[in-house]
Amino acid sequence: MKAIVDEDACTACGLCEDTCPEVFELQDDVAVVLVDTVPEDQEDVCRQAAEECPAEAITIEE
Ligand code: SF4
Repeated sequence: MKAIVDEDACTACGLCEDTCPEVFELQDDVAVVLVDTVPEDQEDVCRQAAEECPAEAITIEE
């Protein structure tokens, strides 16, 4: 599973980093994805971060 952040849509609110810090990190006012493949034990919380992103900026690819 992969996670992708739309940098143009991201408002740098920090919620994804709070929810799933192993995958998302705020850098220079945008959230970046730290991993190429989301670790299996992070998949549920990563999906949660995507669902809760207020800007709908996170896409999950299964
Ligand atoms: S939750 Fe969405 S808008 Fe907020 S920092 Fe993460 S990707 Fe950006």
